[in-house]
Amino acid sequence: MELLKELQKYRNSPRNAVISDNFSLTYRQLWEKSESLASVIKNGGVRPVIVYGHKSPYMLVAFLACAKAGVAYVPIDINMPENRIKNIMDSVEPQRVLTTEKLQQYKEYEFLDITEESVYAHEISIEEKDWIKAEDIFYIIFTSGSTGVPKGVQITYAALNYFTEWALSLGECEKRNVVYINQAPFSFDLSVMDLYMSLASESCLFTLSKETQMDYRKLFASLERSQAVIWVSTPSFAEMCLAEPAFTEELLPELRQFLFCGETLTNRTAVKLQERFPAAQIYNMYGPTESTVAVTAVLVDEQINKKYRPLPVGEVKPGTMIKITDESGKEVSEGESGEITILGNTVSRGYFNNPEENQRAFFEACINGEKERGYRTGDKGYIKAGMLFYEGRIDLQVKLHGYRIEMEDIE
Ligand code: AMP
Repeated sequence: MELLKELQKYRNSPRNAVISDNFSLTYRQLWEKSESLASVIKNGGVRPVIVYGHKSPYMLVAFLACAKAGVAYVPIDINMPENRIKNIMDSVEPQRVLTTEKLQQYKEYEFLDITEESVYAHEISIEEKDWIKAEDIFYIIFTSGSTGVPKGVQITYAALNYFTEWALSLGECEKRNVVYINQAPFSFDLSVMDLYMSLASESCLFTLSKETQMDYRKLFASLERSQAVIWVSTPSFAEMCLAEPAFTEELLPELRQFLFCGETLTNRTAVKLQERFPAAQIYNMYGPTESTVAVTAVLVDEQINKKYRPLPVGEVKPGTMIKITDESGKEVSEGESGEITILGNTVSRGYFNNPEENQRAFFEACINGEKERGYRTGDKGYIKAGMLFYEGRIDLQVKLHGYRIEMEDIE
């Protein structure tokens, strides 16, 4: 599967690619607008582009325009703290900043309001040969760094394609032309899951803005309207919804699959979801941003829920290997705890401009005669009967609503 090639097939499709509040774009509009915007970006050089905004459909236009112009994009959500935004801007030194929202500061960079129609009047000069190549960086997503400076995880186009293809093979995700719920902001790698699974399957991404998520009446009205089939969120967001008795299959009669990643899914939450949504499957997935969203998955059915406490995070995807290692980096035997190390075709090329952290976290290994990229996650876990179990961190990283925070970053 190759994302842009898939989208090219749907270039004339009148189906909605994205719905955000009261604004939507069809696949045809998405294709055409990203084509014009790519022509603008192409003239700006090879440095990454920052895309600043929230859940606007124009964010998708910008991401695809970058891919068509062959440059990486760096998503920044409007709710990111000010100093984090400044840190990212200064470290990326973008060729330009595409915005859907007002951003007054940072006069040193070139800004383009991509909600202006005039942007799309640009003559199209993009050809397939300009498109991003498999080994090029597709996006850079920043995560909390223990030195107080965020780390930009670089993910290649090939890695994104490998991930998306695998995720689309999980249970009900083989369905096309369905509706995906988008909860996470685009600056959080969980959103890569719903965004690109949805686009690659000619489905519709139904976004929930932060404002909607903060007001349960608005949230439930949106969910009811969504006709969602696939749900992607952190477990904590689903737990928040479960606090409302109205969160049942009556609200979401089309729902067939929950995909969870980013933090622990408890047995209790899984049981409650099974009771409220008997027609839906629940998948627990695991992975850090550095390995492209997720590398393991397990269908949490009644049997798994009864058998395991806590729940496993799943079996490893094709093209990836997981090794559990001790402090000296040696592999431990099955069932023993150690650090979770991920190797394979979706491991990041490294952090943007950060040789020190790269040296610490990434490595290369020769496995069965093939050179594989590896990443030391800092997560603790063990493998039993082919299933990975997560046991927390070996350092001071914590998760808040699914967001990764290094304690030293706050210090
Ligand atoms: P992020 O890079 O923001 O996606 O965070 C990745 C980290 O979230 C991992 O290194 C784990 O510590 C944690 N994590 C991801 N998936 C799960 C899961 N299914 N269960 C428990 N923790 C998880």
